[in-house]
Amino acid sequence: MKILVINAGSSSLKYQLIDMETEQVMAKGLCERIGIDGHLKHTPLVGGKPVFNEDLPLPTHSEAIAAVIDKLTSAEYGVVASMSEIDAVGHRVVHGGEKFASSVKIDDAVMAALEECTPFAPLHNPANITGINACKAVMGDVPMVAVFDTAFHQTMPGKAYMYALPYEYYQNDGIRRYGFHGTSHRYVSSRCAELMGKPIEELKLISCHMGNGSSICAIDHGKCVDTSMGFTPLVGLPMGTRCGDLDAGVIQFLMNKYGYSIDEMLNILNKKSGVLGVSGVSSDFRDLDAAAEKGNDRARLALDMFHYWVAKVAGSYVAAMNGVDAIIYTAGVGENSAETRAAISSYFGYLGVEIDSEANSKRGEDIMISTPDSKVKVFVIPTNEELVIARDTRDIVA
Ligand code: AMP
Repeated sequence: MKILVINAGSSSLKYQLIDMETEQVMAKGLCERIGIDGHLKHTPLVGGKPVFNEDLPLPTHSEAIAAVIDKLTSAEYGVVASMSEIDAVGHRVVHGGEKFASSVKIDDAVMAALEECTPFAPLHNPANITGINACKAVMGDVPMVAVFDTAFHQTMPGKAYMYALPYEYYQNDGIRRYGFHGTSHRYVSSRCAELMGKPIEELKLISCHMGNGSSICAIDHGKCVDTSMGFTPLVGLPMGTRCGDLDAGVIQFLMNKYGYSIDEMLNILNKKSGVLGVSGVSSDFRDLDAAAEKGNDRARLALDMFHYWVAKVAGSYVAAMNGVDAIIYTAGVGENSAETRAAISSYFGYLGVEIDSEANSKRGEDIMISTPDSKVKVFVIPTNEELVIARDTRDIVA
């Protein structure tokens, strides 16, 4: 079975074609500047075909999907003979609200429910819906599955997901913590259990997804019991450009003082804050490491804040679960920055965590970076959201 995994953004569309017999990625690519002009980078990973990396007109997502199918099936760049070899499509959908606690086969009722979730993710869900409609237009009746960023977190208990606001905002408007990066937390936690050789139902895990956006998840016996992102992905840890947790009174103060509209204010909180805002240097942790190395105090402060917040939130999850068996680092920063992992892990002495610095210096593989004697194990596990989407799609379609 071959499954096309689609992650549609407002002007971009990422894809992978995965052969489920071997779970090998046959081709991957990225359409960019959809609706502006258009660019497609298509990378075949089997058959020794060349990379296609050129501008081409992509006025809408339908042309983008058509271009992807064209490349996947072309004699020069293709990895399959025709579209009929693609058995199903798995779509990443950001927000499933309380309607979707797991992945689902897409039909008209699901499309209507996705529309209803749109107010929760006004930037992301419309793009995901556009991607699904474009696929339907180009691929006809090929079965499609939606896999939600929020679904894994639907097992959180009320005490973790409720905000202490008047109850009717939850009841009438769905205002609560939803959490994001669920597909990533789900992948790395189940992989961690495999690496530990234990059923996930016997483990207490804390997964730290640290990339441009970052979130932490407490996974107790295989179920999410808390996570740091909330109603939106803005809160929790300070991130590349997002502020993380913030006293709402600050928003009122700044809007009054500087006359910002709510859109201007949210733009500051989403795009100009986080480690970028504090450092004034960059949202990229590599740039921050380099600047801190050269003695830039604000870059140092931004990094220290990030490490502190990860340790603080993870510590609160140790309390929430009354213990922890393993801590997992994943995503761009978690997978690549040995310094970040060491700095965060240095807060976990009270848990009996000991880091093996040689293991911690390795990259690109699933690896335990704690010493054999470490009371709590620490792992680096490269995330693979596309594989989870493809597996769910296979299971649901089958
Ligand atoms: P992601 O959102 O998971 O793709 O992660 C992207 C982020 O990973 C980038 O913004 C970088 O800050 C970070 N990153 C990638 N490589 C490194 C590295 N070697 N050291 C520190 N940070 C890195």
